[in-house]
Amino acid sequence: MEKKTLEEVVSFCKRRGFIFQSSDIYGGFAAIYDYGHYGTLLKNNIRDAWWKSMVQERDDVYALDSAIFMHPKTWEASGHLAGFDDPQVDCKKCKQRMRADHILEEFGIEADKAPMEFINEKIDELKKEGKVKCVNCGSTDLTEAKRFSLMVKSNIGSPVDVLSEENVVYLRPETCGGIYLEYKNMMNSVHPKLPFGIAQIGKAFRNEIVARQFIFRTREFEQMEMQYFLHPDQMKEKYDFWHELRWSWYLEYGIPEEKMNWHKHDVMAHYATEAYDIEFNFDSLGGFKEVEGIHARGDWDLSQHSKHSGVDLSYTDDQTKEKFIPHIMETSVGLNRLVLMFIDNGYTKENVDGEERLVLKIDKRLSPIKVAIFPLMKNKPEIMEQAKKIHESLKRKWMCEFDTSGSIGKRYRRQDEIGTPYCVTVDFDSLSDKSVTVRDRDTMKQERVKIEDLESYLSEKLSL
Ligand SMILES: [Zn+2]
Repeated sequence: MEKKTLEEVVSFCKRRGFIFQSSDIYGGFAAIYDYGHYGTLLKNNIRDAWWKSMVQERDDVYALDSAIFMHPKTWEASGHLAGFDDPQVDCKKCKQRMRADHILEEFGIEADKAPMEFINEKIDELKKEGKVKCVNCGSTDLTEAKRFSLMVKSNIGSPVDVLSEENVVYLRPETCGGIYLEYKNMMNSVHPKLPFGIAQIGKAFRNEIVARQFIFRTREFEQMEMQYFLHPDQMKEKYDFWHELRWSWYLEYGIPEEKMNWHKHDVMAHYATEAYDIEFNFDSLGGFKEVEGIHARGDWDLSQHSKHSGVDLSYTDDQTKEKFIPHIMETSVGLNRLVLMFIDNGYTKENVDGEERLVLKIDKRLSPIKVAIFPLMKNKPEIMEQAKKIHESLKRKWMCEFDTSGSIGKRYRRQDEIGTPYCVTVDFDSLSDKSVTVRDRDTMKQERVKIEDLESYLSEKLSL
């Protein structure tokens, strides 16, 4: 099958109500996106699948929903104020801003967390060869690389016109900060024994320079993070365990193993001891890109917050009486990236009897709509009544859709595009044989099912 382009995926997402550019009627707002009807349903289903695996099915992970705003000292302690920035290059002609490390990576030069001297040296070499151009206007007249903070500022609690260092607060750049700050309250309320994890899903914000990556990299995004607290002696075993578990989650939800890759970080944050990313091979983004990070962070986070807050965040082992600051390993995934991954992987064009069929092949548990109900003809009251009755009953259990417009073939195609696994058609025979036709998205096979057995039939098929 030919590869899908980013343009194709973006246009599909808009046309079928998955994802819209934010503030479309005002000409759009860069690197911010809104989720429409099907996009919201898909995103929520992916979120719930992660939550089920990470919290519901575990005995050692607890739930948290911490606020976006935190005490400004949080970011001083975490090092974000001093060093959370990206090297950036500006076009002198059109003012377009670009990530210097990404420019280098395009030429096969690994520049993640590289020092500025290295970045500028390499950029200069490429400039001399005339290889570095503005992505917008093509000019070669570029500034040298400089660091820009990724932190998004606000004036909450100090409503003044000018933001100075004294009154500024930050929108969190990642969700894990809230987990560290609530570590003590969680310990004192849930009383977990090490090792244990705290998971949360929420929005984070970064002032990133973004060049045409759709929802892969955005300034407002949703993270799903789990911070696992442990004794350093347990790190190896637990790291390997989560490494394995997270990989298998992707396989369980239908991502082919050959489209996944482990990327080992050669350069790590100074506190990290082991860091791998799970990458997915995006057609629409032209190759492997990170979707999830699994990182061993040492005791750096709790030590820093302990030091800056003056609050003891150490743990005392009941049995050995050993007192220590717990070490942390995290699994951190971008929910929006997973939405794009499942669409990129599922978006399939097939040839059916000489006609093109566009079908979103995603795991049934993630499908926005589970069942669509079609009355064969809308001007036959008995058929309409029977179909409505079925719809009323099934929608109490699943997201359903009722569609009366156009031929059955057209209605199938509309549901195929949004990944609906089952379509139920009520026809003339239904009135006498009390059965309906159920059609499967992937095989396109049709089966006659008794109306009284329909719910249990679908329950089994959808295996929720
Ligand atoms: Zn330019």
